[in-house]
Amino acid sequence: MSTNAKREVVIIGGGFGGIKTAKMLAKADVNITLIDKTNHHLFQPLLYQVATAALSPGDIAVPIRAIFSKQKNVKVMLGEVVEVLEQQKVVRLKDDRLIPFDTLVVACGAKYNYFGNTAWEKHAPGLKTISNALNIRERILMSLEKADQIESAEERQKYLNFVVIGGGPTGVEMAGAIAEIAKRNMMRDYNNFSPDQTHVYLIEAGPRILNGYDETLSEKAVGMLQELGVEVLQNTPVTNIERDKIFLVGSVIESPNIIWAAGVVANAIIKTLDVETDRAGRAIVAPDMSLPRHRDIFVIGDAAHMLDDKGNPLPAIAPVAMQQGKYVASLLKDASKYNAAVREPFRYLDKGSMATIGRARAVADIRGFKVSGFFAWAMWSVIHILFLIGFRNRLHVFVEWMWHYFTYKRGVRLITDRPGDTIGHSELETNTFGRGA
Ligand SMILES: Cc1cc2nc3c(=O)[nH]c(=O)nc-3n(C[C@H](O)[C@H](O)[C@H](O)COP(=O)(O)OP(=O)(O)OC[C@H]3O[C@@H](n4cnc5c(N)ncnc54)[C@H](O)[C@@H]3O)c2cc1C
Repeated sequence: MSTNAKREVVIIGGGFGGIKTAKMLAKADVNITLIDKTNHHLFQPLLYQVATAALSPGDIAVPIRAIFSKQKNVKVMLGEVVEVLEQQKVVRLKDDRLIPFDTLVVACGAKYNYFGNTAWEKHAPGLKTISNALNIRERILMSLEKADQIESAEERQKYLNFVVIGGGPTGVEMAGAIAEIAKRNMMRDYNNFSPDQTHVYLIEAGPRILNGYDETLSEKAVGMLQELGVEVLQNTPVTNIERDKIFLVGSVIESPNIIWAAGVVANAIIKTLDVETDRAGRAIVAPDMSLPRHRDIFVIGDAAHMLDDKGNPLPAIAPVAMQQGKYVASLLKDASKYNAAVREPFRYLDKGSMATIGRARAVADIRGFKVSGFFAWAMWSVIHILFLIGFRNRLHVFVEWMWHYFTYKRGVRLITDRPGDTIGHSELETNTFGRGA
């Protein structure tokens, strides 16, 4: 970079970390290129509500260009980064374009970890993108339609089984929301089966769900899930997954609705960096979030491995990514702070964690203050509305939640024909629906 040229900052990823970094640089004298393989920022914490027909995709996704339409120092680029070439200071896109940088912020997130069992992915999709959520929604709705048309109780049963694997916050939220559908609010629309014939399983290999939370909150969460009718199986490792079948030690559950929410692994871009990684493939960054051997390259959010004050890895959650984005922007805004020799380390401020369970319950741990039930849910709702980007989205989500709260109805129960989606390949696919029913 010549002395009077503006610094070229390239950000990979328009998720929580990337968007925060770019926004915090609004007044900085830098040129920003924000590259994302999708054209939208996705509010992943509410994806499960799209998967369970409570919200529409447009409620939780915003075009990245719209976010920066008034920020003149940001250029938004649709493209998939496949490699970072540290020595040349360029990133390479899938179509071989090379984008040069002075400073690079890698905020490319993570993907689901199938722990080496790659074949399981097509039978048990994870929930990470809008396409995943719509496929899961379609499977759930198709199952209920199918069950409504099968006379034999034995043949019908598999369509009334729903399995969520992984007892972290995403799995807990997903299982609670499915139980709302399968045990309560949509049941009056079907005549051929009753709620007590539906089974929702939450399967966790470890000794308890919500492992990162205080033990009392894990127990409360189990109680709330059970009240909703979820069968919580802890200490239950999955041994195999085949089409419409999940194998546990000593038992098999048949279901076309198997959802994976068990652990994440870093994005493949991290493998192309000159850096050590942890077991989940995340970059082990220096205390200032940069690569120890390349101080102009920062990795933030789900892609980074950073320890807290007690020596535990920071969790893969949105506040971590956002605080790290804000921190990196603070360095870039002030040349005296940017110098690698004097950079202050990043410090995470833990404001607490929460998970919602069903229609109006949640568990929350706010700096040691533990709450559960309706009050925790109210807090969860306010916080999630506040963090959604865009006034229209906030208003719409608020209205949908109120509608759902008072009527118990889910508004987005559409089964759409979306050719090209590859996740679902079971009998429930749109084009095969009706076969053998
Ligand atoms: C279902 C679900 C529920 C969750 N619930 C919560 C919750 O309740 N609370 C909470 O705090 N956290 C929650 N999280 C975690 C939270 O969403 C993540 O920690 C957060 O999104 C991480 O931010 P990030 O910027 O690191 O990555 P992301 O937000 O994942 O953004 C990564 C971006 O990079 C882009 N990208 C990826 N690869 C490439 C590439 N090769 N080239 C170009 N662009 C690329 C992606 O398209 C994406 O836009 C949840 C996650 C999921 C999946």
